[in-house]
Amino acid sequence: MRKQIAAANWKMNNTLEEGTKLLNDIINSNIQVNNHKCVIFAVPFPYLVSANQQLDNKSNMFVAAQNCHYKAAGAYTGEVSVDMLASINIHYCVVGHSERREYFLESNQLLAEKVDRCLSTDITPIFCCGEPLAIREDDSQNDYVAVQLKESLFHLDIEAIQKVVIAYEPIWAIGTGKTATSAQAQEMHAHIRAVLANQFGNAIADNISILYGGSVKGANANEIFSQPDVDGGLVGGASLIATEFIQIIKALK
Ligand code: PEP
Repeated sequence: MRKQIAAANWKMNNTLEEGTKLLNDIINSNIQVNNHKCVIFAVPFPYLVSANQQLDNKSNMFVAAQNCHYKAAGAYTGEVSVDMLASINIHYCVVGHSERREYFLESNQLLAEKVDRCLSTDITPIFCCGEPLAIREDDSQNDYVAVQLKESLFHLDIEAIQKVVIAYEPIWAIGTGKTATSAQAQEMHAHIRAVLANQFGNAIADNISILYGGSVKGANANEIFSQPDVDGGLVGGASLIATEFIQIIKALK
C-alpha cells in the first residue's frame, strides 16, 4: 500500500511557545501512526530543531521544512540550504507551495532545481501543484497540472521520482474554506497518476503518494481520504488546531 500521509503546513504561524504546545498536544494524544502511515509537521525554520527534539524519534512522525534554496551554498542572504536541513536531521521539505509560486515567483523550472537539490541530500520533496480558479473555470486544470509535473519532475529518473511526494492543491481551495469535492479530488489525483504512469510506468506511479490540500478539516478528511487515489492531505489552517489535526490523522486510510 502507498504511504498515507497527513502533513501539517504551519506556514508563518505560531510563536515558539504556541508551536511547542500544539505539537505537544498532538504527541500527548498518543495517536498511533502505524507503518504504512506518516505524519509530517512543516514548521517555520526557527522551530525545526526543537520540533525534532519534541518528536524524539516517534515512529512515523517527522518534521519538514517549508522551503529550501535551489543552490547548494553561497552568498544568498536569508536563505536556507538543503545541506543545512540535512545537518539537523530534516528529511522532508515542501517545494513549490502555491504561496511561494505566487509571492516569490517560483517557476516550474526553478522548482525542478529545488527538487534536485532536495534529492541530492536524501530529503523528500513534497512537491505542490494545482491550478488557480480561472484555469478551473476554463476546465483546463488537467493540462495545467500536467505541465507543472512535466516541467518540474519529468527530468528525474525512475529511482528519483519514487522519492517524491506530490501534493495536489487547487489554489481556489487553499485557505478559502472551499474544498474540492471528493469527486473533483479523485478525478485530478487519478489524472496525476496517469500522467506519472505515462512517463515513468504504471508500477512506479502506483507507488507515489499523492496528497490533497485545500481546506481539509476534521469534518471532511474521511470523505476526501477515502478516495482511491488520495493518499492523505497537506493541511494548512486546520493543522494549527490540535483536535482538528488529530482527527485528520485518524482519517488516514
Ligand atoms: C496549504 O496551504 O497547503 C493548505 C492546504 O491550506 P488550507 O488547509 O488552509 O487550505
